[in-house]
Amino acid sequence: MYPLPFSQKHINLVEGKKGRLLDLFESWCSEVITLISETSESKILRRDVYDQDIIRSWGRGRVTLLGDAAHAMLPNLGQGGCMAIEDCYHLILELEKVATEGITSNEISLVLQRYASKRIARVSAIHVASRMASEMLSKYQPHMDFGSGRLSGCGGAEAQ
Ligand SMILES: Cc1cc2nc3c(=O)[nH]c(=O)nc-3n(C[C@H](O)[C@H](O)[C@H](O)COP(=O)(O)OP(=O)(O)OC[C@H]3O[C@@H](n4cnc5c(N)ncnc54)[C@H](O)[C@@H]3O)c2cc1C
Repeated sequence: MYPLPFSQKHINLVEGKKGRLLDLFESWCSEVITLISETSESKILRRDVYDQDIIRSWGRGRVTLLGDAAHAMLPNLGQGGCMAIEDCYHLILELEKVATEGITSNEISLVLQRYASKRIARVSAIHVASRMASEMLSKYQPHMDFGSGRLSGCGGAEAQ
């Protein structure tokens, strides 16, 4: 057990973003509290994330989307970037066929549609799974005896 640099009373007095973080992480180990305490308020950046439903149409004509532009998802499964990379790979495979199969530039919209229709099922499944992972992270409470607290306090109290 390590002594905390900030008392509970002090934590409650700290205003703003730092105060909010100290409040959220109050049951975590002293290293985490020290890290937050010694970071200046101006260096703490808040970036909200928003959930949005998947869209089924990624393009029109000779224009298509990939990555977050097509299917931004919540980050708690760590798959958004992976899906963007897979999109690129499959788009390249489809575009290679333009050269090898002699597809004319007029037919490129069909190639782009094929790329999107090949990707949509997998991306939709990952999108739903990411939403579920985020729900689990934010909803499960310590009184359920597993999972996270207000942020992810799992094990935080025991680490003291
Ligand atoms: C907190 C957090 C944690 C994450 N963790 C993971 C993880 O562990 N693993 C994972 O795979 N994914 C993770 N992701 C998701 C991942 O970061 C994104 O899915 C990924 O970056 C999407 O790549 P992208 O190229 O589609 O879009 P972006 O990375 O957003 O790239 C788009 C680019 O276009 C630029 N741009 C925008 N508008 C214009 C314009 N008009 N002109 C020119 N340029 C423009 C932007 O500046 C940006 O550089 C996480 C996301 C968040 C928020």
